[in-house]
Amino acid sequence: MSSKHLMDTYRRAPLAFSRGEGIYLYTDDATPYMDLTSGIGVNNLGYSHPHIVRALTEQAGKLWHVSNQFRIPGQERLADRLCEASFADRAFFANSGAEAVECALKLARRYFDVSGQPDRWRTIVFDGAFHGRTFASIMAGDGEQYREGYAPHMDGFDRAQFGNLDSVRALIRENTAAIMVEPVQGEGGVRAASAEFLAGLRQLADEYGLLLILDEVQSGNGRTGKLYCHEWSGITPDIMATAKGLGAGFPMAVCLATEAVSQGFGVGNHGTTFGGNPLAMAVGNAVLDVLTEPGFLDSVQDIAVYLRKGLTDLVDRHPALIRAPLRGSGLMIGLPAIAPNTEIVSAFRQQGVLALTARDNIVRLLPPLVITRDQVDAALHAMDAALAGLAA
Ligand SMILES: *Cc1c(COP(=O)(O)O)cnc(C)c1O
Repeated sequence: MSSKHLMDTYRRAPLAFSRGEGIYLYTDDATPYMDLTSGIGVNNLGYSHPHIVRALTEQAGKLWHVSNQFRIPGQERLADRLCEASFADRAFFANSGAEAVECALKLARRYFDVSGQPDRWRTIVFDGAFHGRTFASIMAGDGEQYREGYAPHMDGFDRAQFGNLDSVRALIRENTAAIMVEPVQGEGGVRAASAEFLAGLRQLADEYGLLLILDEVQSGNGRTGKLYCHEWSGITPDIMATAKGLGAGFPMAVCLATEAVSQGFGVGNHGTTFGGNPLAMAVGNAVLDVLTEPGFLDSVQDIAVYLRKGLTDLVDRHPALIRAPLRGSGLMIGLPAIAPNTEIVSAFRQQGVLALTARDNIVRLLPPLVITRDQVDAALHAMDAALAGLAA
């Protein structure tokens, strides 16, 4: 069945899919599963979204890849549109979340280097953080399991407590360059930063001349009902990394920054072979078309309220297995479990609903943003049956 030639880095469920449509995935024998994970926050528009498929197939017939030695009109267009829609003035396209985070960290160092403060190089990060799997991002993230066996460890990160401004202030030194935070921690337990905390970080950054880096790899691209989650708080970062939902399933990422900070990068200071190629950019532009359609994000907010209400009712029905309050923001949802979250996730799967786990024994739901009320009802019904089965 499974191949002995794959490296053993994942514990995989004994399931494979051959087709996807909307929020449904289908196995070879056409058994449907409701995907409330969106492929870990990636397939935000569900599967086989016609506008995205059309953009990809049209571009595939014309030109997949040219290098960044040349102008790439789709890349210029997407950069213009992302900057128009956000705090940012400049964009660097990459291929994965970790690469966008890496770009953000490198840009912060370069910015201080070119502005005559090369001694500023450390970044304040948080407990519960996850920023990816590169050497730098496993150090920025919390979680010994990601670092085990990778000594010697890269230096340059100081860890504060998520939600605790005093703990951040206490870590600021003359060599501090930046603060990096997820507006909603995903892997770390779907913990949402309060608006006050984010505003406090912005204020500390301004007070001490630091850069504020937001990791919106998971929380961005409409996931919380705004294009970027930080819009809920009213603050803006200096640098932001985002990825997962950006290509709705096509691997792509972006590091966005203000004009002043972007001066840190000149020709040759950073680069990528694949990042921003025509195929990725065609898909990225098509995804943005949908996310910025009038009313689209409002409908995400509405369905999020509806799903959260249903999940709260589910907690009332199964108080021995799951509990309130729900965590997260919008359609980035953490359901605190009492029974082991892995057991709940596999019970859901047996009822045809795919869910994820997160730290703190959380069941994590990242449904496609296009999920309908009827589909929410069907998912809640299946989850209710799964929990009833577990209780029995
Ligand atoms: C998933 C994730 C990353 C890493 O993204 P990859 O594409 O797996 O490299 C970084 N930061 C956050 C917040 C994430 O959720």
